[in-house]
Amino acid sequence: MSRDAPSYDVLIAGGGPGGTTAAALLADAGHSVLLLERDHFPRFHIGESLLPAELPLFEKLGFDPKAVGAVYKQGADFIDEEKGQFARFPFAEGMEGTRGHAWQVERASFDHQLMHIARAKGADCREGVKVDSVEADDDGVTVHAGDATFRARFFIDATGRDRLMCKQERSYERIDGFGLAAIWARFENLSPEAIAEVTETGNVTVIMVPKGWGWAIPLPGGKLGTGFVSAEKGVVSEEWFEERYAASPFLQRVTKGATRAPFGKAGDYSYKNARPHGARWGCIGDAAGFLDPVFSSGVALAMGGAEKCVSLLSPALRDGREADPELLEPLQAHMAKAYTIFSAVIRSFYHTNMVDNLFFYDDPDPALRAGLISVLAGDLWRDDNPFVKLLLRSSRRTRGRRDATAAAS
Ligand SMILES: Cc1cc2nc3c(=O)[nH]c(=O)nc-3n(C[C@H](O)[C@H](O)[C@H](O)COP(=O)(O)OP(=O)(O)OC[C@H]3O[C@@H](n4cnc5c(N)ncnc54)[C@H](O)[C@@H]3O)c2cc1C
Repeated sequence: MSRDAPSYDVLIAGGGPGGTTAAALLADAGHSVLLLERDHFPRFHIGESLLPAELPLFEKLGFDPKAVGAVYKQGADFIDEEKGQFARFPFAEGMEGTRGHAWQVERASFDHQLMHIARAKGADCREGVKVDSVEADDDGVTVHAGDATFRARFFIDATGRDRLMCKQERSYERIDGFGLAAIWARFENLSPEAIAEVTETGNVTVIMVPKGWGWAIPLPGGKLGTGFVSAEKGVVSEEWFEERYAASPFLQRVTKGATRAPFGKAGDYSYKNARPHGARWGCIGDAAGFLDPVFSSGVALAMGGAEKCVSLLSPALRDGREADPELLEPLQAHMAKAYTIFSAVIRSFYHTNMVDNLFFYDDPDPALRAGLISVLAGDLWRDDNPFVKLLLRSSRRTRGRRDATAAAS
């Protein structure tokens, strides 16, 4: 094993939004950064609907969504076409302090632009290099990538759901009870009428279907990202998508005459990495865990986690404290707050009447509605949200009842 002196302060595996955000912020703070990305950019990635919570970070990075033709997104719509129900949640109607809009992007150009920004700030970002394994020692980390070996003082795993360190440390914990699999297809060459309809608000539309849900995301260049998620095991197929697509008058209308790109699929994606950091290494974004696509929280949590990670790591690198195994404990605590809130709202989405009783309810309590919108906006790190207080109280009660039933049986 090579024990050369570290050549970089930080080596990052993965050039998604988590990895490039960390690279850009670390380089900006004057640290030497090597980022290794397995693929060549631009490349397709799922996860196109962004949240208002990302806006302050975009400003900090100097990222202008208009540079990638992003579609302005005012909020989220929920529809149940079978029951004739519709609910709109504009971010501007969230709690005071919640940002009032977000963006819809093609991840190919979004991720590529973030990599350009990281490079412009001085990070060495190399594409087509897959990290295979990582070993930490007293003086640094050795990172193996094919025939090459690199040394750094600290390693950040931003490999997304490939979750390099989670596999290496065998720290995977499955999360049950959320959506089980997704299938998606993008429609291109939407008609001018359809483009006008879907970009009027730019909202993501969540389509309620029996035992699952679907999405429609207006994308730059007259495209629409669509997909369906199943809460049932083993049913997702192209035919299964076609049936749900055929049963949606909304999707039929806005994709009339458009061409459909090939299908993509993902399954078994809900998990927690039980050991997201150690001495000289830490995981951010999906490499630390992924919940469910339903509230479009993945990119916000990846970028927000990267920012928090850098706020802890950068001063530690300056003071020579980066080998402390507890260094990223506050990152874990910070992210736990977001995971707890989103887990509770996702669990309610799949297992309670929350959608009927709150989302589609005609006359909701205005404070609770504003609180729900702030959660949908990813504005999670505040202590004054009445919706969150109610949600967490009721999820504690449900857990308590479940535990009592389990103990009694
Ligand atoms: C069906 C579905 C729909 C979704 N929709 C949304 C949405 O609308 N909005 C949203 O915010 N999120 C959404 N997400 C989640 C979102 O895709 C992720 O949360 C987000 O991309 C996480 O960013 P990341 O930087 O952690 O990882 P990623 O974006 O996955 O980036 C990881 C990068 O690491 C690279 N890599 C992997 N292994 C290695 C290796 N060994 N060496 C080097 N490089 C490596 C990969 O090539 C990739 O570029 C969705 C997820 C699913 C499954």
